Amino acid sequence: MFIDTHCHLDAPEFDHDRDAVVARARDAGVATLVVPAITLDTLPQTLAMRQRYGCPVALGLHPIYERSHREEHLPALRAMIEQESPVAVGEIGLDFFVAGLDAQRQTELFAAQLKMARDFDLPVLLHVRKSQDQVLKQLRRFGVRRGIAHAFNGSPQQAQAYLDQGMKLGFGGNLTFERALNIRRLAMDLPLEAIVLETDAPDISPEWAYQQRNEPAYLPRIAHLLAELRGTDLTTIMQATSRNAEAVLGPLPAAQPAKAAA
Ligand code: ZN
Repeated sequence: MFIDTHCHLDAPEFDHDRDAVVARARDAGVATLVVPAITLDTLPQTLAMRQRYGCPVALGLHPIYERSHREEHLPALRAMIEQESPVAVGEIGLDFFVAGLDAQRQTELFAAQLKMARDFDLPVLLHVRKSQDQVLKQLRRFGVRRGIAHAFNGSPQQAQAYLDQGMKLGFGGNLTFERALNIRRLAMDLPLEAIVLETDAPDISPEWAYQQRNEPAYLPRIAHLLAELRGTDLTTIMQATSRNAEAVLGPLPAAQPAKAAA
C-alpha cells in the first residue's frame, strides 16, 4: 500500500466531497494520508482528519502564513503537541519565493518549532522553497536529524546534504511534467532509500489534472511514473517509499472509512 506523506485533506477545497476523496484514495491503494497543519486557527480541522479518517497528523505553523502567526501561537502550539502527540512537527520551514514575506520572522518561527521537534523528539515536515541552504543550517543548529523535505527541488549536492542530515525527500505531481528536468533527474539518481511520495493535494496537481484540484488517489500514477523513470517496477517503488516514510514517521495507521460525526 502507498503512503501519501503530505496531503492537506483538511483544506476547504475538500469540504464538499471529503469522504469520497478518502474513499477513492483507499480504492487506489493509498492506505495512509499524512495531514500537516498550517495555522493555529485551523488545527481543529487538521485534528478532525485523525478523528474522522484515522489520518496521522503533523502540527505546526506554515511559513507562508507568517503574517497570521502571533507570538502567543508558539506556546499554544507547544501545548497542542504535548496534548495531541502528532507524528511530526509540520508544516514548517522557510519560503523565500513568495513575495512580501518577512524572512527574519519566518526564521524565528522556524527556529522555535525546530526546538519543539527536538524537545519532543519528533521528526519534521519541511517546506523548503528557494531556501535549501538556510533550512539546512537551522536543522544543523538544532540537531534535528529526522524528517521529510516536501516537494524537494535543489541541486544534487543540496539533496545529499539533506540526506546526510537524516532527511527523506518528497516527490509528487511536479515529477509528471516533462519540463521538470531537475526534479526528474533527482528522482532518477537519488538512492531509493531517500525517496518518499506525496501529493500535496489540493495543490501541485499532476500534469493530467493541470489547473484542477489535486487529490491523493493520484499517488499510484505518480509512483508508476517514478518506476518508469528509474527503470524499476511499481511494487518496488511502493514498498520502498512506504518503508522510507515509516522510517521517519514511525508505524502509520491505514486510513479508515469516515466515522459518523459525533
Ligand atoms: Zn503543504
